[in-house]
Amino acid sequence: MKRTLLALLLTAAAPVSAQQSITTLPAPVVADSRVAALRDGALTNDHYAWDLTEGLTTEVGQRLAATEAEARARDWAVKRLTAMGFANVHVEPFTMPVWTRGAESAEILSPFPQKLAVAALGYSGSTGPNGITGGIVYFDSVDALRIAPDSAVRGKIVFIDHHMMPAQDGSGYGQFGAPRRQGPTIASLKGAIGIVIRSIGTDHHRNPHTGVQYFTDGAEPIPAGALTVPDAEQLVRILKRGMPVTMRLTLVSEKHEGGQSGNVIAEVPGRDPKAPILLVGGHLDSWDLGTGAIDDASGVAIMTAAAKHIMDAGRPLRTIRVVWFGAEEPGGFGGKAYAEAHGREAYAIAGESDFGADRIWRFASKLMTTDPAAYAQLAASLAPLGITKNDKGGADGTDVEPTIDAGAPWISLSQDGTRYFDYHHTPDDTLDKIDPAQLRQNVAAWTTVLATLSGGIESGAKQPKRR
Ligand SMILES: [Zn+2]
Repeated sequence: MKRTLLALLLTAAAPVSAQQSITTLPAPVVADSRVAALRDGALTNDHYAWDLTEGLTTEVGQRLAATEAEARARDWAVKRLTAMGFANVHVEPFTMPVWTRGAESAEILSPFPQKLAVAALGYSGSTGPNGITGGIVYFDSVDALRIAPDSAVRGKIVFIDHHMMPAQDGSGYGQFGAPRRQGPTIASLKGAIGIVIRSIGTDHHRNPHTGVQYFTDGAEPIPAGALTVPDAEQLVRILKRGMPVTMRLTLVSEKHEGGQSGNVIAEVPGRDPKAPILLVGGHLDSWDLGTGAIDDASGVAIMTAAAKHIMDAGRPLRTIRVVWFGAEEPGGFGGKAYAEAHGREAYAIAGESDFGADRIWRFASKLMTTDPAAYAQLAASLAPLGITKNDKGGADGTDVEPTIDAGAPWISLSQDGTRYFDYHHTPDDTLDKIDPAQLRQNVAAWTTVLATLSGGIESGAKQPKRR
């Protein structure tokens, strides 16, 4: 009783004691009216992002890195960006190892014969057309596999389970992605003949989630696949019956060196060519199972649409450079190639959109320490979109990371990831998963960022002649 009363008193007192005196609050910052008008225009009227996402996913579809499909996507991008009025539109090519998928299947032979739905992970070894057959050995986590004696694994097909749950910030992907990223190498080093993991996903559809992994530490490539979440749960139930489980696994794939990929670059030229650049982008490539709508057609579309809204408004002081990075999925090849060529240029900001198309809910930036006035302006202008500042946030984005490492100041706009890992890297990554209203909110947010950091937009100023 006493405790309850005390708790009540504390609860009642809290708002008073937590309230800061208005004389000690920082100076008020309100949104710039020009920026607010651009933001609200994009929020209501943007159609560029939808048109780009719909066009790319319909007219090209899947765009697996360094394949003929990704090359067609680059051609599509150059044509579309040029037609939209961007300047200096060009492709910067690079080479990389290319991996492609063939026939794949998984089947329990005993004790309860049945088929399971599976997809190979990137850079998986190939079983050949006849597949491999082996006993299943179960691990609850990648660490459980790590501490297992080699004798428990040798000659077997490893199965790693996990317990990933949906989260707004998508944070489970870091920890629960370990079975995919490290599992195949550890299994191979311990003498396993193959590995299947529970898909790194949060859905219960019978869609496998692919994704990249590498064989490191001298590990020989072995066949590595992802079972769908329901199939992984089925396999767990079968294993719980306590009888030996035998699987036939067929994952046919090919890998060869010297594949061609490339970054597509486009600019809105600034009035001052020497002013530090605003760098924004997403990745053009996708996995091959879906049409890569949320990963990452929407990302390149959001950034391109935001830059286009600035272009439509006039000429910014700073050049805006939009990059549609190639080959992000198999290991960030495009981002590395870009940084090698352009990492030493001067940047005012670097940002990326690669987490779907659901609404942005918070942001963080290096500007908090390097340019607090600009950071406060951003916070004021983004707040009407429901976006809060996250003073503890960090840099984000595989493609811009090497350029940020080279010194570019970063900005991260966090999208709501609650349903992202239901579709991520699956056949279900298709256009219908994109909510046009949330897509427009993304465009409005990035338009706000570009307008705030543009150095001023001159509406009278003519765009220079395109090259
Ligand atoms: Zn992506």
